[in-house]
Amino acid sequence: MSGRKPAAPQEGVSAHELVEPLTGGDRRALAKAITLVESTRPEHRAKAAELLNALLPRTGASLRLGITGVPGVGKSTFIEAFGNHLIDAGHRVAVLAVDPSSKRGGGSILGDKTRMETLARSEAAFIRPSPAGATPGGVARRTREAMLVCEAAGFDVVIVETVGVGQAETAVSDLVDMFILLLAPAGGDELQGIKRGVMELADLLVVNKADGELEPAARRTAAEFQNALGLMRPPSADWVPPVLQVSAREGAGIAKVWETAGDYRRVMDAAGAIEARRAGQARAWMWAEITEALTAAFREHAGVRRQITRLENQVASGTLAPAAAAEKLLEAFLGKAGKP
Ligand code: GDP
Repeated sequence: MSGRKPAAPQEGVSAHELVEPLTGGDRRALAKAITLVESTRPEHRAKAAELLNALLPRTGASLRLGITGVPGVGKSTFIEAFGNHLIDAGHRVAVLAVDPSSKRGGGSILGDKTRMETLARSEAAFIRPSPAGATPGGVARRTREAMLVCEAAGFDVVIVETVGVGQAETAVSDLVDMFILLLAPAGGDELQGIKRGVMELADLLVVNKADGELEPAARRTAAEFQNALGLMRPPSADWVPPVLQVSAREGAGIAKVWETAGDYRRVMDAAGAIEARRAGQARAWMWAEITEALTAAFREHAGVRRQITRLENQVASGTLAPAAAAEKLLEAFLGKAGKP
């Protein structure tokens, strides 16, 4: 992972001036464009929207993969092996790492320079940590936009990595075509504290570390998850999520994961399911944008700001009903005329 600071979005450069170098493979333009879409400053948001609009015709051609798993399960080792396998097969791979639990920019799991070392050096790879965001929604928005930018820059596989601790998985599964849950061998009948909700999102389960003395445990773990899956409703009607075993360290089973992703894509494409999923995601994204913008405008409204702390305190202390407080604030925001 690069230790360099992200390039500052140049104030003087218009969004359109970024398009050509970006689509032509200029990595500085790519880094700059991603920094721009990650910025929350209003003038940058406008510029980012302009850029994304210009890039839109060149997006959509990649396979979007989400990869999640608890810390230590081997995500970076796996992505390194998997990414290198794809590059050897002629693909260009972008990795966007999301760490919502970290408050530091380019946070804990991400700042570590030893992660994905060989992949990071490859010309056919692009690795980018997403800065920690206040909300999973905020993280998802920036990641989605960064994903589109990577597609326009010619990356045909985009991997979005998250730490499988629960909060961001739904947001990330809402922006990828295929969601992969990485597991480690574990003894006993524990399902490794994996939240059922996260398991239900998975299109593919991969048990890592199936090597050496961990191999029997990996086999048992795979069987247990296979059983657990049998009791769940799969995320898609057209695909039954398989459970694979790999050793990211030794590279065993990595090719099979890519083959399975190919099978998934074929099956889902034939059923029109990827297109349908993306259409639903785009619609949800529009509504998320609306909700976010409205909430921000609401919080900044002078009439709302005058009352909000007092009303919030009254609600917290139980002297005012939440619905009544909300009504008062909405009235301040919309005016009488705006009342439903
Ligand atoms: P992350 O926190 O999920 O990104 O996990 P890492 O990739 O950093 O790996 C965590 C630990 O598991 C490291 O000590 C790795 O060397 C080890 N590890 C990763 N993959 C394998 C594997 O396939 N087999 C074995 N035995 N260890 C592995």
